[in-house]
Amino acid sequence: MQAYGVRGSQNEGSTVQVAPDVTRVATGFVNTYIVGERSRWVLVDTGINGFAPLIKQAAEKRFGFGARPAAIVLTHGHFDHAGNVNTLVGNNDIPVYAHDLERPYLSGRSDYPPQDPTVGGAIAQMSRVFPHSGRVIRAGLRNLQHDEIPELPGWRWIHTPGHTPGHISLFRESDRVLIAGDALATMNMDSWTEQVTRTPAVCGPPAPLTTDWAAARRSVEALAGLEPRVIAAGHGLPIAGDGVSDALRRCAERFTPPARGRYVNSPALAGPDGLEWLPPAPPDLFPMRAAGAAMVVAGALGLMAAVRGRKRRPV
Ligand SMILES: [Zn+2]
Ligand SMILES: [Zn+2]
Repeated sequence: MQAYGVRGSQNEGSTVQVAPDVTRVATGFVNTYIVGERSRWVLVDTGINGFAPLIKQAAEKRFGFGARPAAIVLTHGHFDHAGNVNTLVGNNDIPVYAHDLERPYLSGRSDYPPQDPTVGGAIAQMSRVFPHSGRVIRAGLRNLQHDEIPELPGWRWIHTPGHTPGHISLFRESDRVLIAGDALATMNMDSWTEQVTRTPAVCGPPAPLTTDWAAARRSVEALAGLEPRVIAAGHGLPIAGDGVSDALRRCAERFTPPARGRYVNSPALAGPDGLEWLPPAPPDLFPMRAAGAAMVVAGALGLMAAVRGRKRRPV
């Protein structure tokens, strides 16, 4: 199994060629993909807000000055995947494709369920500062029709809910390339060290933002059934080679939801208008522990200051 973008490798860098016409552009901790040729290309996901210039730069490097996508496809609407849609579309007539069930979160009708830091792990702790609000895509929002996208010939989209209700993945049969969004990750996002090392691994979806674990499992199983040779996910380095479909199959077979968490036993319920019901939030001990630790530190500092002051006092 080969990983793209590994430090010291031939394909090192934040912008790497995943297939002849698929380029990964990393925007912080999330990947976007430029798919297609100079005459017609599509941007899959748009990254974290503020990274639009980097994506434009990568597209211009590949296709020349003023390069503009024929369409934008969103795997889902989370802040780290849909953050630059309005900036990148600007005043241009660029269609933005998303699944019907994702539309409420992209048209200002609904917020996403709150993230669940109680699932534990690195990304869960980091998620405390993530926004879960919906956003308003100002122009060009289109529904997906049938199983193909007109601007992406040769690819089909697959509904892969669980992480979000309208999450989709993209698959090209001819070279078995899978763009998986957050239906899965190609790194262990729960590990603090893996946030830096990013060892290639096929793992389940980012846990704190996954709100239906039974659906998430079915989606990973469906993707395993495609037997991809390349997996380009939203998080982690893209991976390729003979071992990829085996690794994905093992991930599907061993798929285990977190041991605890708000959405583990009951999913958040959503419909065509967005969020409908939330399971109650379990007790979150972290803020109490953090406050307790802060009090201990403050107490220790106070004690040290008192001791120092006593020492200085004249006898
Ligand atoms: Zn996501
Ligand atoms: Zn993501």
